[in-house]
Amino acid sequence: MNATTRATRDLRAALTWVAEGTVLCRKVLAGLDETSYDAPSTLPGWTRKHVVAHLAGNAEALNNLVHWARTGEPTPMYASPDERTAAIASGARLPADRLTAWFEESAQTLTDGMAALTAEQWRAEVVTAQGRTVSASEIPWLRAREVLVHAVDLDSGVRFADLPAEFRAELRVDILAKRARTADPTGTVVPTVPTVPTVPTVPAVPVVHGPPAEVTAYLAGRPYEGVTTTDGAPAEPLPPWL
Ligand code: ZN
Repeated sequence: MNATTRATRDLRAALTWVAEGTVLCRKVLAGLDETSYDAPSTLPGWTRKHVVAHLAGNAEALNNLVHWARTGEPTPMYASPDERTAAIASGARLPADRLTAWFEESAQTLTDGMAALTAEQWRAEVVTAQGRTVSASEIPWLRAREVLVHAVDLDSGVRFADLPAEFRAELRVDILAKRARTADPTGTVVPTVPTVPTVPTVPAVPVVHGPPAEVTAYLAGRPYEGVTTTDGAPAEPLPPWL
């Protein structure tokens, strides 16, 4: 298989995962009333509404990258980290029906935008919110991670074991690469953003064993069960990854 074939297959898989994750989130949201929507998610300090506001804002932000790829005009995901945080906070104060409508509209706009990209535009370079320069073909993967992992974070019955196995495998590779980029190889910790001394630090990841879905949850810094280190002891939780 040559590189072009492989890239094409990965793009199609990622677009499928975006659709599957969107459906999973939609099913969760359909089962929430105003009170349960406003109840805590599994993410520290975030209600389910915060998670959904973040997902809607993320779709709009990624659509900025789609615009960038289509036009060549640099349009960053977010104007600033503060603007991103403020949009999540104000979105979390919306009534349930309006928040769900924002989730759906932003997801559809992103889907339509991605569907309209040509092969050449998928190869255009864009810059993520983390400052990484990537090809636009990375956008569906970035969105798939968000909708599938946050579907679990909504704490309404979706578990890592419910996510596609191929997605989980790719996610483990992605998380380990990210943790390796931000961890010092000697095992001491380094800040993820050197100019901000107080951000969480990322230690090296030990070798662990367990069911693949639980290892994926462990690597993502989410609740897990039955993950052990090589000496059989329960693995210590890792800090959040996304
Ligand atoms: Zn997220």
